[in-house]
Amino acid sequence: MGVIGHFIGGRHLKLEGGNTLQLIDPATGHALDKVSLGGAQDIQAAVEAAQAALPSWSATPPVRRAAVLFRFRDLIEKHADELAALITREHGKVLADARGSLQRGLEVVEFACGIPHLLKGEFLENVGTGVDSYSLRQPVGICAGITPFNFPAMVPMWMFPIAIACGNVFILKPSEKVPSCAMRLAELFMQAGLPQGVLNVVNGSKDCVDAILAHPQIDAVSFVGSTGVAEYVYRSGTASGKRVQALGGAKNHLVVMPDADLENTTEALMGAAYGSAGERCMAVSVALAVGDAADPLVERLSKRVRAMKVGPGTALDSDMGPLVTREHRDKVSSYVDVGVAEGASLVVDGRGLKLQGYEGGAYLGGSLFDHVMPEMRIYKEEIFGPVLCVVRVPSLDTAIELINRHEYGNGTAIFTQDGDAARHFVNRIKIGMTGVNVAIPVPMAFFSFGGWKRSLFGDHNVHGMDGVRFYTRLKTVTSRWPDGRRINAEFTMPTMR
Ligand code: NAD
Repeated sequence: MGVIGHFIGGRHLKLEGGNTLQLIDPATGHALDKVSLGGAQDIQAAVEAAQAALPSWSATPPVRRAAVLFRFRDLIEKHADELAALITREHGKVLADARGSLQRGLEVVEFACGIPHLLKGEFLENVGTGVDSYSLRQPVGICAGITPFNFPAMVPMWMFPIAIACGNVFILKPSEKVPSCAMRLAELFMQAGLPQGVLNVVNGSKDCVDAILAHPQIDAVSFVGSTGVAEYVYRSGTASGKRVQALGGAKNHLVVMPDADLENTTEALMGAAYGSAGERCMAVSVALAVGDAADPLVERLSKRVRAMKVGPGTALDSDMGPLVTREHRDKVSSYVDVGVAEGASLVVDGRGLKLQGYEGGAYLGGSLFDHVMPEMRIYKEEIFGPVLCVVRVPSLDTAIELINRHEYGNGTAIFTQDGDAARHFVNRIKIGMTGVNVAIPVPMAFFSFGGWKRSLFGDHNVHGMDGVRFYTRLKTVTSRWPDGRRINAEFTMPTMR
């Protein structure tokens, strides 16, 4: 077992001494590597490496930057099994799911390969007599990314491929719970031809984040994690003059209309609620059953939840792996206690699951609550585990009102065969990512991802064109070339007419 250090200026820095955190395999409870918990000194070293790399990388023609991204894309594909295994080892999710999340990250790299086209500005000849105007997008400078535990590859890849394609240099601070995949991605990017210092990885937790937020040379910060920390990062970062996008937590509702195909809806709900053990910001944690849909839906769901196979992420027949840590498992389990105490009906109880041979793992079975009320904590708070709450509502408009009243606004979906109901829902709902008969409507890389309300602080979503906008500054040039005419001082507002 070793110590995972930092990756700064193209080199691994193995630290002797200093703070470390012991990583634990969530499937078995056995010790893995330790990870360094860096601080202001390590962020300073990364900033210096990034600063040294910035002038030449930002001056590299976009088409040459894209060539590096194309090679990086191929290397990720070649090493996909290895990267997925690293995700499963530290996070616990099942291998097929780890592969899927890597694929969604890879698609952002593919999007970023088109950077020469994406960076093109606008030009208008003759905005005034003999005057032309054009706009261009230039890199912001040193960008930092702070990422959560639940997507060790995908969320960092929402950020650094686009930032780097735009000509920026980047410092990534991955979640201290899952550091290895980000370190490996940085090595592969270097192998693809990325100059040293363009992508740096500093491991750590709050001390590193605070050092990023306070550092005067860091120009932009992308954050993904829980809402409390997102708000803190947004407020502190913008107060020190940085551009910040901070994506937070979620409580995603799926509306089941009485006319929905209940077999398909149940299957979609199972994957959306219990896939990745519910540790997804787009997981569905509330099913809003409209009218007559409730009884048959709960009956079908309860059978499916009981039959779900929970096991290590490396076992091919596991539907759901362990949670990320035993502490998180205990927190989620305590929410089930809360729901029972609040008076919701616990239809399936996932607490106390024991797996023979894996007694040290962070396992929890799927839980299903019925008759959950909007005043309950299990409805209001993000649980981030395999717990689905069914709320019974009389009408679609009641469902819409509940969703719109909730503090979070990440994702939602409606399952129905009625186009008019779906259209009404899409039009009225105050949520950033909305699905119609699609339970997890995560936008593809060439669209942008982001929630509303307390699920996103800042004006930009991630990836797609919003990613390009976030990682560039817009400059508009107005230009006139001498034509021999004399120019007299103008003391009024120039109008170009
Ligand atoms: P977290 O907020 O605990 O940690 C996220 C990052 O912030 C980590 O890198 C961590 O080291 C750092 N951090 C933690 N506490 C901090 C503090 N007090 N001050 C400064 N930095 C701190 O989140 P998590 O538990 O790793 O991830 C789960 C959360 O992320 C859930 O709430 C989930 O909904 C959210 N999430 C949101 C999205 C989205 O797109 N909106 C995507 C994935 C995850």
